Amino acid sequence: PATATQSPVRTTCPYCGVGCGVLATPLENGQATIAGDPAHPANAGRLCSKGSALGETLDLDQRLLHPSVDGQAVDWNTALDDVAGRFRRVLDSHGPEAVALYVSGQLLTEDYYVANKFAKGGLGTGNIDTNSRLCMSSSVVGYQRAFGEDVVPGCYEDLDVADLIVLVGANTAWCHPIVYQRIRGNQRQRKAQVVVIDPRRSATAEEADLHLPLAPGSDVALFQGLLAFLEHNGHLDYRYLEAQVSGFGEALAAAREQGASPAAVAARCGLGAEDVARFFQLFARTDRVVTLYSQGVNQSSAGSDKVSAIINCHLATGRLNRPGTGPLSITGQPNAMGGREVGGLASTLAAHMGFDEADRVQRFWGSLAVARQPGLKAVDLFEAVHAGRIQLIWIMATNPVVSMPDADRVREALLRCPNVIVSDCMANTDTVATANVRLPAEAWGEKDGTVTNSERMISRQRRFLPAAGEARPDWWMVAQVAQRLGMEGFDYETTAEIFDEHARLTAFENDANGRIRQLNLAGLVGQGAQAYAAMAPRRWPILGPEDRARPFADHPFSTDQGKARMQVLQPRAPAHPPNPDYPLVLNTGRVRDHWHTMTRTGKAPRLGGHRPEPTVDVHPQDARSLSLFEQDVALIESRWGRALARVHIDTGQRPGSVFVPMHWNDAVSSRCRIDAVVNPVVDPDSGEPEFKHTPVRVRAL
Ligand code: SF4
Repeated sequence: PATATQSPVRTTCPYCGVGCGVLATPLENGQATIAGDPAHPANAGRLCSKGSALGETLDLDQRLLHPSVDGQAVDWNTALDDVAGRFRRVLDSHGPEAVALYVSGQLLTEDYYVANKFAKGGLGTGNIDTNSRLCMSSSVVGYQRAFGEDVVPGCYEDLDVADLIVLVGANTAWCHPIVYQRIRGNQRQRKAQVVVIDPRRSATAEEADLHLPLAPGSDVALFQGLLAFLEHNGHLDYRYLEAQVSGFGEALAAAREQGASPAAVAARCGLGAEDVARFFQLFARTDRVVTLYSQGVNQSSAGSDKVSAIINCHLATGRLNRPGTGPLSITGQPNAMGGREVGGLASTLAAHMGFDEADRVQRFWGSLAVARQPGLKAVDLFEAVHAGRIQLIWIMATNPVVSMPDADRVREALLRCPNVIVSDCMANTDTVATANVRLPAEAWGEKDGTVTNSERMISRQRRFLPAAGEARPDWWMVAQVAQRLGMEGFDYETTAEIFDEHARLTAFENDANGRIRQLNLAGLVGQGAQAYAAMAPRRWPILGPEDRARPFADHPFSTDQGKARMQVLQPRAPAHPPNPDYPLVLNTGRVRDHWHTMTRTGKAPRLGGHRPEPTVDVHPQDARSLSLFEQDVALIESRWGRALARVHIDTGQRPGSVFVPMHWNDAVSSRCRIDAVVNPVVDPDSGEPEFKHTPVRVRAL
């Protein structure tokens, strides 16, 4: 066995939003051994199957190692000059709205900060969006509506002391396994009740005390029904409402219109009346309730309203800002939160500011001309590329040809676009294949910076391997292009400098207009390179040595009045109902052992065994009527596209619905990109696509 070349390096897992701490020990053969970091609060030394196999994913096979332009290998100077030249030509001929960046929750906060500053400050366009749009943007809207800021109000410790944990649209056992272990621990030791609300009987639902397999898209009706039930039966906390919440009269009236009868709610949601009554009563009589939710809530044309419906129930009962209570979204990606913090979404500016606060950002960034209008959100952005309105796109650390809805059209858009720049650590992705300019980025283990997990905890991701080939940090590439375009304020040399600038911006005029923003890193301003290098995990707001687990517990909400806001909601069905041509509902998501488009997890042999091929999970009743048999190869077709998968008969499926994992892609095996089938419908407020509901037909080949 290879010997260690140095002592273990403390870093974080590059996969899900749990944000587990990792101890990586570099070996003389260029590989590393991986263990959980016992000192990291998110995981206390535990890792799931994906995190444990990280050491098997560090080889250079399929790595993008050298820059190239139009297929020709070039040196960095030539590549960066070329990129700057492309920007200059498009800016001169078409203006700033004809260029765009599409970035990723895989980027570190420092990369994200510089990319956002480049787009919204340097280029003067809001056209920088991120694959977090596909993941958590409905939650962002829900938090902004309720709290005046994109703030997750709780933390993981709440899961340890809650007496009822409601999991909505979240297969936590597979997708956030270490958080799930906490939930199971509480369920076993403290007898906390766990309710799973999910159309599928997932691995998580199997171990729940109660599973509500609701009809796809009926979440708002369920939570509005719960709110009406709570009011009707005297379970609201009026003292809390009067003191802390605005808009509750109208919100309650809207819920009341839906009716408080569990039987009526059950009928609307396709559920058993007794199960709904049991859930409502559990929620009503349990003080410590956490509602944890994920993509089943967010990835919907009504995603923002689903989030608001959950938050409404917590506000109406005063169940947040106390231990063991509150809504808790859990992000798919390792740094979805960090990206949101620095303005990686087209709809926000840096430091949680809106475009109405562009002057504040302008004062901080000085000579740069800050964009005054939001940019295009992901689906609209790629549509603008397709239409030729965007003539240059720089894609960083993400694979939209696989992961966007209507993915064939996204590929077509990129193939039409005259200037596609892709920076990535992998050479063989479906998106890299469309690029004019390919820029090799540092991979996990090589890059250095910070990430923020789902509970607002900022952790260092540290380098423990040398950069492969000519790979460079993403922030460096952006800063180099910015300097070539004559922009000031991009002469960074280290991630410590970038993080300090980000921290200073969060604190800069933070209480402008009397609204105190919780995203405030004043306690880290000027900490210096050494302290940054040694930084322990911290949860924001960070104003001094102590962190706040629950930011609003002793502070007003970030709204003008300082009160949280309940929302008036009306349930609405998914955009495209099933029809005689496409009678089934396609739901997409993750499997236990793979991550995103498999560029990393596909390298670890032990992760391939659980689901070696893409499958379409079908209820036996549907399989019978469609003459589908286990192991058949099936064609899944929608109005938008088609994909292949192996039939898996699964009693856990809701009849009328099928499930296909999102990971497989043409780089692995052809015609398996399920997102080519997914409808490009989005939530009107968040722009998040409806990945969980596309009408399809399935037949054996
Ligand atoms: Fe990594 Fe998430 Fe697994 Fe933790 S739970 S080891 S962050 S994939």
